[in-house]
Amino acid sequence: MTTSHYIAGRWVEGQGSDCISVNDPALGQPFAELMAASVAQVDQAVTAARDALPAWKNTSASERAAYLRGFAEQLGQRREALITLQMRNNGKPRHEAEIDLDDAIATFGYYAELAEQLPSKNRDVPLAAPGFSARTRLEPVGVVGLIVPWNFPLVTSAWKLAPALAAGCTVVLKPSEVTPLIEQAYGQIADALGLPAGVLNIVNGKAETGAALSNHNGLDKLSFTGSNSVGSQVMRSASAQCRPVTLELGGKSAIVVFDDCDVGQAVEWIVAGITWNAGQMCSATSRLLVQDGIADTLLPRLQAALEQLRVGNPLTEEVDMGPLTSQAQWLKVAGYFATAREEGLQRLAGGKALDRDGWFVSPTLYADVPKDSRLWTEEIFGPVLCARRFATEEQAIAEANDSRFGLVATVCSADPERAERVADALEVGHVWINSVQAVFVETSWGGTKGSGIGRELGPWGLSAYQSVKHVTRCLG
Ligand code: NAD
Repeated sequence: MTTSHYIAGRWVEGQGSDCISVNDPALGQPFAELMAASVAQVDQAVTAARDALPAWKNTSASERAAYLRGFAEQLGQRREALITLQMRNNGKPRHEAEIDLDDAIATFGYYAELAEQLPSKNRDVPLAAPGFSARTRLEPVGVVGLIVPWNFPLVTSAWKLAPALAAGCTVVLKPSEVTPLIEQAYGQIADALGLPAGVLNIVNGKAETGAALSNHNGLDKLSFTGSNSVGSQVMRSASAQCRPVTLELGGKSAIVVFDDCDVGQAVEWIVAGITWNAGQMCSATSRLLVQDGIADTLLPRLQAALEQLRVGNPLTEEVDMGPLTSQAQWLKVAGYFATAREEGLQRLAGGKALDRDGWFVSPTLYADVPKDSRLWTEEIFGPVLCARRFATEEQAIAEANDSRFGLVATVCSADPERAERVADALEVGHVWINSVQAVFVETSWGGTKGSGIGRELGPWGLSAYQSVKHVTRCLG
């Protein structure tokens, strides 16, 4: 049983009613347990954050930047432990766990720099009207609740924590109950750096704990990453209290492959876009649109590439893909395999759970999937790729945009002008041309349509935690 809640600068045991098992998905076995935070403990965490706000928001931007650099450094010092924990609890292959850690480190470093630039953003505003002066102040939004999922625990939390702290907000973070140990590093680092008590609080738990946080009337904003169904509940809580919310939700993203592509290179991009993190990515490019002229060559090579992937336990084997992270996710993906059989889909690869301990499935490809198939329209969150063919650029754009989601897309073409034109026409928040899943902290992250509200990363990620104030003075 681990003590895993960080409230007002102290580690405390959970007093909630839920016992949370922390599992190794490659074995399908628990390796730790913790008690969830109670509703009263969530309240204590919000109160601690509120008490800490006046002093924290008045620290200098350079002081906050120094803490953020400290987070980056201390993450680096915990490198091996954090990589191993992600491999063990998420089932990530080592190289993916390393990328996640490096992403989190880069995020803290980037927002340290942005924090240092803050004073220059508070500036005089030239007015056309005579007799008045005006100036802008960018102020922290206040006390912020941060609720995150399990698929990229270090990264998703860093994308929220770093800009929130840089802006001068105080926070209550609720990690996912599937991966509750990984973000404890952020509390341990806060301790090591002497971050003032209450600036960062961490409460663990399931839906009850999340709801206690998102319903709490002591928050000034809530930033949520997760499923659409929970996102809409979080939005209802925010609307009941008329307060802002950022929502990073699901996706069903397209990868569009034109027939001028190098087939071998396209196959690599397609495989990475659906098998990294075992396909458990909001940004998985799970709808393949392949042009007629290349489809008959590409699909067999894609099938072979998926079948050759090494799937196994990242802690004990050299693997390209690990297990699904939770039993619930494994059952969900298996449910889609059953649906595919009922719908009579043409299966080119996979489509089954692996016959071994743990929550493994094989990388899966269905071809010529009808547009109304549930597998074409719904987010599966596993290594399950559905393919359709297209003839023209217009048809590719129309099919890619025909989704209730709008998170990302990938365009593969040897013609740069066409690739840029298609990228501009896609109704999504982020497009990759001839690359896959490359996320840089300077760019933005977030979706259109059902994929959410607001943006993370870049200067937009900081703005999400800032409120604009103008002071206008009569000079007369
Ligand atoms: P989830 O919605 O089930 O859970 C997300 C978080 O919400 C968890 O911490 C959970 O405990 C909490 N929660 C559950 N019920 C709650 C409630 N009633 N009130 C408040 N909080 C509650 O999502 P998940 O299964 O952890 O993650 C997978 C989903 O996240 C996928 O849909 C994926 O696309 C999405 N996601 C989106 C992004 C993005 O950037 N757009 C990134 C990662 C994951």
